[in-house]
Amino acid sequence: MTSVFRLFPDLHAAPAAPRDNAEALRARVRAFVAEERARGTITLGRQSWTTYDRAFSERCAARGFVAMTWPKEYGGHERTAFERYVVCEELLAAGAPLGSHWIADRQSGPQIMRNGSEKVKREILPRIAAGQCTFGIGMSEPDSGSDLSSIRTRAVRVDGGYRVDGRKVWTTNAQHADYLIVLCRTEPQTEDRYAGLSQLVVPMNAEGVSVRSLINLAGEHELNEVVFDGNFVPEDHLLGQGGDGWRLVTEELAFERSGPDRFLSTFGIFSIMAQAAGAEPDRHAALEIGRLVSRLSAVRQMSLAINGRLGRGEHVGGMATIMKDLGTALEQEIPDAARRLMDVRPSEDGNEWEGALASAILNAPCFSLRGGTREILKGIIARELGLR
Ligand SMILES: Cc1cc2nc3c(=O)[nH]c(=O)nc-3n(C[C@H](O)[C@H](O)[C@H](O)COP(=O)(O)OP(=O)(O)OC[C@H]3O[C@@H](n4cnc5c(N)ncnc54)[C@H](O)[C@@H]3O)c2cc1C
Repeated sequence: MTSVFRLFPDLHAAPAAPRDNAEALRARVRAFVAEERARGTITLGRQSWTTYDRAFSERCAARGFVAMTWPKEYGGHERTAFERYVVCEELLAAGAPLGSHWIADRQSGPQIMRNGSEKVKREILPRIAAGQCTFGIGMSEPDSGSDLSSIRTRAVRVDGGYRVDGRKVWTTNAQHADYLIVLCRTEPQTEDRYAGLSQLVVPMNAEGVSVRSLINLAGEHELNEVVFDGNFVPEDHLLGQGGDGWRLVTEELAFERSGPDRFLSTFGIFSIMAQAAGAEPDRHAALEIGRLVSRLSAVRQMSLAINGRLGRGEHVGGMATIMKDLGTALEQEIPDAARRLMDVRPSEDGNEWEGALASAILNAPCFSLRGGTREILKGIIARELGLR
């Protein structure tokens, strides 16, 4: 534990007092959620940040809940990282369908803001901010997931840009995406396996890009294989300097691994379980729920500490990795606790609650795979702590 606190000195700090503007914002999000529940867009059992609903994202954006921290000149609202956190945790906890803008708002937009050409920034960022642009993450390949530096997708310099050939896999919502940020090899491989990689912003409507669907364990179409067959990408769609892709990917992963989306995937189930246990739960229920609540609050505190650092532009290193490992373990355990505590039989053909529990059970295994597997995270943490 001492070692973990060495990595998280902010956890020793006194908890921040509630900030009035953030609490007012929280009330606005809750009112929006209530409206959307009445409209039927927010229902129990949906996978919040992967469920695609463009119209919902546009309404979110119209309320100012997308691109919250970005400069106004790119369509943003210049709010604080903490305010964004408040909005995200409320929407995720409610199970809102954020899939159309989530990846763009969480990592692709910020990546373009930091490393994109001015033309690409002006073209794309205002559309993300309006909830009208979907991004996918083009990192994993059929033979390169954990060992990402071994990717084989190549981008070769041609007149005015790059020609891209290769295959990406497990690409969430690629079937809806307007763009993919693709990690590719732009320079020949040397002894340094992390050198010579780059990230390109690839329009999905370009000639030579095709998408094949992959159906997951729950029978849903979230994942895809994407093939690039000699498609052209303009040179101003390169992010950062050519060959600097590994650094960019590492920075992006800190955003991907540390937010409330890494522990709230089954919060709807938890919430029903706690309500069912009531104000005077029996000893068994009190123990189960008490344990989960204490873990939830500890993980949230870690996530908030990282969010503060990212908001100040500071390096977070292995902290995001620890947070993701603890957070996904927690969200995976909630459906099991619900089964132990409640007299309910999960069933895809059952009522809303039975269906939600079935969906949570079928989706839970992927929580600790997407964004980096448990074994890989543990390896990074061990390195960070100087243990290997
Ligand atoms: C629901 C879901 C959504 C996803 N969305 C995206 C997306 O949008 N974009 C994207 O690019 N990718 C996405 N992924 C891919 C995800 O990042 C990879 O699945 C993950 O990184 C693991 O890679 P792999 O599947 O190739 O498994 P492998 O790397 O082949 O690993 C297989 C097993 O071996 C273990 N292992 C591998 N190497 C080591 C090692 N050195 N030490 C110990 N154990 C090891 C792993 O932990 C794992 O258990 C998604 C995955 C899922 C499940």
